[in-house]
Amino acid sequence: MNKEALIGKSYQNFIDGKFENGSQRDMDVFAPETGEVIAKVPLSGKRDLDKAVKSASEAQKAWGDRTLKERIQVFFKFRELLDQNKDQLAELVQLENGKTRGEAMAEVMKGIELTEFACSLPQMVNDEIQEVSKGVECRTTHVPVGLVASITPFNFPCMVPLWTIPNALALGNAMILKPSEQTPLSAGKIGELLKEAGLPDGVLNIVNGDKEMVEAICDHPDITAVSFVGSTRVAKIVYARATSNFKRCVALGGAKNHLIVLPDADEDMAAANIAASMSGCAGQRCMAASAMVAVGQVDHIVKRICEESEKIQAGNNLGSVISKEAQERIERYINEAEAAGAKVLVDGRNAKVAGKENGYYVGPTVIDFVTPDMAIAKEEVFGPVLAIMRTNDLDEAIAIENSSNYGNASSVFTQNGGMANYVMDRVSAGMVGVNIGVPVPREPFPFGGWNESKFGVTDITGKSSIQFWTKLKKRTTKWSADAWTNWMS
Ligand code: NAD
Repeated sequence: MNKEALIGKSYQNFIDGKFENGSQRDMDVFAPETGEVIAKVPLSGKRDLDKAVKSASEAQKAWGDRTLKERIQVFFKFRELLDQNKDQLAELVQLENGKTRGEAMAEVMKGIELTEFACSLPQMVNDEIQEVSKGVECRTTHVPVGLVASITPFNFPCMVPLWTIPNALALGNAMILKPSEQTPLSAGKIGELLKEAGLPDGVLNIVNGDKEMVEAICDHPDITAVSFVGSTRVAKIVYARATSNFKRCVALGGAKNHLIVLPDADEDMAAANIAASMSGCAGQRCMAASAMVAVGQVDHIVKRICEESEKIQAGNNLGSVISKEAQERIERYINEAEAAGAKVLVDGRNAKVAGKENGYYVGPTVIDFVTPDMAIAKEEVFGPVLAIMRTNDLDEAIAIENSSNYGNASSVFTQNGGMANYVMDRVSAGMVGVNIGVPVPREPFPFGGWNESKFGVTDITGKSSIQFWTKLKKRTTKWSADAWTNWMS
């Protein structure tokens, strides 16, 4: 398939079942692997949002009136369409994001799993009924919130929209999706496939745009809930603005994930998992291993991590980072750490891929003897870089993890169950693991971090999301005039 046919109209806004241009400016979309411009995305404004909101509000009434079992029929079909179109979707993800084809396909497969979860919602949305006084019944029902919005980042252009779309829509809401302006293509394709699956026009509208569109979403009086996934800086802005406008909001932010490695860890398993976690998706995962705290004598494991990292090659089994600015930012962190005394063991700076000289590549990088005060130890680098800190004391390692503003994920590498539990009990992160580089909870378990990695009460996926996408109606009924009448009834 040629590039134009692959992209189709998926970069445009998708309103009321039709692709259309935005009413304002456009922005270039780059293919990070090559640096070439592949499309122009509209940076839409309030006029476009008003149109999308009007269509979605109208569509939600009939959609929300259907039963959950009726609504999920669309998602059974959508799941089949995702499967049939997985090659094309993976190609789009690779084109707009720069990850490898295998990583892009894994993202689509995860999208299928998320859709399967939505298909199982009737088994999980359990309303309660109880006779609370003689002849008097209380019953809860889950009611859609109404018109909701989902604002997504560049790093998982297919998966993160599918964190929210299937659950929110299956539960009876209509949605305005605002994908990252850097990676708008997969979202458009998702809109197209949902229409083909039978989703009524307007139930999902996609508006492309940047900061201006996000602010308009947070301010729009007809939007009742906002989910956000992106950096902590913007998560704070969105959470504050949406909640100050009295909307419910869950806003997932950035991360600095710590792996704590003990001397008894299985050398091969630890090295393979840590190198893969640090470099997968070019380190642009909010679950990526970014900081490793080595406790005691673990030189043998550090050596094996370097060997595994050297097997990972840019343009081969390592994709590009998203932009030139990202490439420069990542290399700046490495330069500054080196200048401050850290030792670069595997150096990914100045990576070049033959035939793709204008692509944005950073090779896997391992830096030892980083100290907790360095920027590379504290800030989110979002590249294939592992910063190793050394300590002789497990509690000090835990204190380093606890000092982070973030709290998305943390893993411990050891063969001692007691030690593993000791660490898991004490680290301040929402998702913790043992001997695993990327401790992502899979469906039906919910996804969400702590501290400045998430603002809001619920998680974004799994059972926890049911609470976010619905409100409870509490019905109390009495049909018999003979029922008891006392202070409780
Ligand atoms: P980003 O915060 O720059 O952008 C996310 C969204 O916010 C985009 O749709 C963008 O258009 C919008 N936006 C950007 N600047 C804005 C502003 N000033 N005001 C209002 N809206 C604005 O994030 P990104 O660079 O696209 O994605 C990478 C970040 O996302 C990383 O920090 C990563 O850790 C985080 N992330 C977190 C999770 C998680 O589960 N916690 C998952 C994926 C990505």
